[in-house]
Amino acid sequence: MMKNRVILKNGYAVDPETLTIEKRDIAILDGKFEKLEVLLQFEDIEVIDIKGSYVAPGFIDLHVHVFKDYTELGIDPDLIGIQQGVTTIVDAGSAGAQNYSTFKETVIDHSKTEILSFLNISRKGLCHGLSELSNLEDLMTIEEAKEMKNNPSIVGLKARMSGSVVKESGIKPLEHAREVADQLDFPIMVHIGNPPPNLTEIFPLLKKGDIVTHAFHGKKHGILSDSGEMIHEAFEALERGVCFDVGHGTSSFSYETLKKFKSKYNYPFTVSTDIYLKNYKKPVGSLMQTMSKLLELGYPLEVLVKKVTKDAANTIRLSDQGTFKVGTRADVTVFEIIDGNETLIDSEGKELHCKKLLKPNLTIREGKVVFKK
Ligand SMILES: [Zn+2]
Repeated sequence: MMKNRVILKNGYAVDPETLTIEKRDIAILDGKFEKLEVLLQFEDIEVIDIKGSYVAPGFIDLHVHVFKDYTELGIDPDLIGIQQGVTTIVDAGSAGAQNYSTFKETVIDHSKTEILSFLNISRKGLCHGLSELSNLEDLMTIEEAKEMKNNPSIVGLKARMSGSVVKESGIKPLEHAREVADQLDFPIMVHIGNPPPNLTEIFPLLKKGDIVTHAFHGKKHGILSDSGEMIHEAFEALERGVCFDVGHGTSSFSYETLKKFKSKYNYPFTVSTDIYLKNYKKPVGSLMQTMSKLLELGYPLEVLVKKVTKDAANTIRLSDQGTFKVGTRADVTVFEIIDGNETLIDSEGKELHCKKLLKPNLTIREGKVVFKK
């Protein structure tokens, strides 16, 4: 019988609430975090010695594609989830209203990794090619959306706003997504890339809590002007509380763009992978590999951990995750940082010599070990 009293001993806790790293034992009772003193009153405790590893609340990847067999991007969720120290992944628009139930039955219900979803505003999702917003008749209606909202694993909407996706539809799919999101009180994750539409049309439609993924791509017409200043519309969106997200992907993350952003601006953003079948080896690798790149670019470990825990959880309104707070769900990521000399590329093929690499050691979901290196 699986014990439901666990102590993770001898680790360094990275606490996203306090932005501290300190030697601290983590106590779990019945799948939730508990005070160590309380747990020690019990007998029959499973003690796991994580000797010198780091321990954090379970990592959350806000942008992945795991609708396998039905979309060409779909990858095995546990391969990029628990096996990489990621306890929760959010599929970003692979499924739409038309095929969400298939996604749930064939993937979500069988995965050890928690799978949430941004439902594509196109009812086809990505099951019939990657120009899902080129025909306005495919847009999900508000009525359809209201029915879908009953599904607890749907946490928002996805609208991929780049030229190859929308074709002649221009900004219209996002205008529709805005209407649906307002009716349902959902955040929208907007993918940005090559125009049309332009960011000057996209950003004004976004509200507090919406997410811009691929924010730091290296293509033309991005968030930065040629002089390296953020365009006015991006600046205003951030001021309103719109969140930027990395969404690394095959062609959507540039070291240069992030370095320029970092040198001038201090807005928080989340870190996600946009990982799928064709990029999980290169250039993306995993969420921890993406974090290793940002570590090398100068972001402190505790800040990076906060981005994939508390900040990610807040973005999709998960109050029970992303924290060590007593009584919240005990999803845990145990990892180490090894001295490596690995050269990791961004989506532009630019090389970065990474001296430190995050590697997963142990993954716990609701108090139970689901992966061990
Ligand atoms: Zn994507």
